[in-house]
Amino acid sequence: MDSSAKSRDSHTAMTAYPHSHTARTALKAAGVVAAFGLFAFLAQGAFGRVPVQIDGRERLVGVGDSVAEIIAEQPITVRRGDLLSAADRRVIVAGGGTQVEVRVNGAEAKPEARVRPGDTLELIPGADTVEPTTEETRAIPVPTTIVGKGAVLTMAAPGSAGIERVVVGAVSGDVVASETVLPATPMVLRRVNGGGKKVVALTFDDGPWPGQTAKILDILETKGVPATFFTVGLRVKREPAVAKRIVAEGHAIGNHTYHHIDLTGATPDVLKNELVSENDMVRWMTGATPKWFRPPMGKIDGPAYKAIKAAGLKPVLWTVDPQDWRKGAEALTIMKSVVAAARPGSVILLHDGGGDRSQTVTALPWIIDELRKAGYEFVLLDDLPGAPKSRW
Ligand SMILES: [Zn+2]
Repeated sequence: MDSSAKSRDSHTAMTAYPHSHTARTALKAAGVVAAFGLFAFLAQGAFGRVPVQIDGRERLVGVGDSVAEIIAEQPITVRRGDLLSAADRRVIVAGGGTQVEVRVNGAEAKPEARVRPGDTLELIPGADTVEPTTEETRAIPVPTTIVGKGAVLTMAAPGSAGIERVVVGAVSGDVVASETVLPATPMVLRRVNGGGKKVVALTFDDGPWPGQTAKILDILETKGVPATFFTVGLRVKREPAVAKRIVAEGHAIGNHTYHHIDLTGATPDVLKNELVSENDMVRWMTGATPKWFRPPMGKIDGPAYKAIKAAGLKPVLWTVDPQDWRKGAEALTIMKSVVAAARPGSVILLHDGGGDRSQTVTALPWIIDELRKAGYEFVLLDDLPGAPKSRW
């Protein structure tokens, strides 16, 4: 009994803390769970990722991320809708259509909604949207028609603006539909030919140019021929002595804008500035005021014509163009082209600037000699028959 008692005692001793054993196991298990929880917590804290289902695929997202954050972060291929032009359906704002819709666990979710681990997200692609339209009444600008074959430009009809009703895209400004209420009538510019007497006017554009303009002036001086130089303001500023010489030797100096720009479509401010600053530059450097104006590239429209007249200038194009500015133009060809095209009242276009004009310089004495042989006299533009009178 003793032994059994002992044994029992021992057993008793061994089983003295049965709950204690269970408690230890529980505690151990609890420790593991706690450790796992801590690990999971640390893992989340450290990596900050929890799994969610996005369109059927498990992806890891940031703990506590909002729907908007998840969409921004994920390599989402679901397309956003674009905003399209009401006129031609081209994309005017990429991503400007309806946005991608996100459903969380089947219900529409706001962008700021927080996502929990295990949530199921579904992405609905955005759709293209056509911009809204507005209706307005606006003026139809006065178109310009140029008629005739002469050099001097005059206005045969002022033209008038029309009225149209248009439907325009509110974002693109595209015209979707238009209806003419009152048609515009064109401004008619007539190229007047100062025919009759056997006279021609020589004109040189795009200078003053270092070296070349002086050579041309030397030839004109030797031959006793007057010419008109359509100068560019920024070149006059660089070659004031040559500009002075043009005026001092009895030639006319004309306005060819300050920067040699295409005037068609230019704003009123640009037009005015190009004309006035060139006139000012010529006046400061030479004391003379240009009376004639030649539009760069011969390009002119109604607003440019009005600005030229408002600046007190007389617009003139040309009737004879040997294309001496073209690469490879040869002196003999330039001369033959001028002589073949010359008529009483012709305005001959040549260039002293804008590039290498050595062929023009070579051709000039031949042109003068050949035209004289044919009975022509050289005059300034003012002395062409029918030339408009200047304001000053
Ligand atoms: Zn030019």
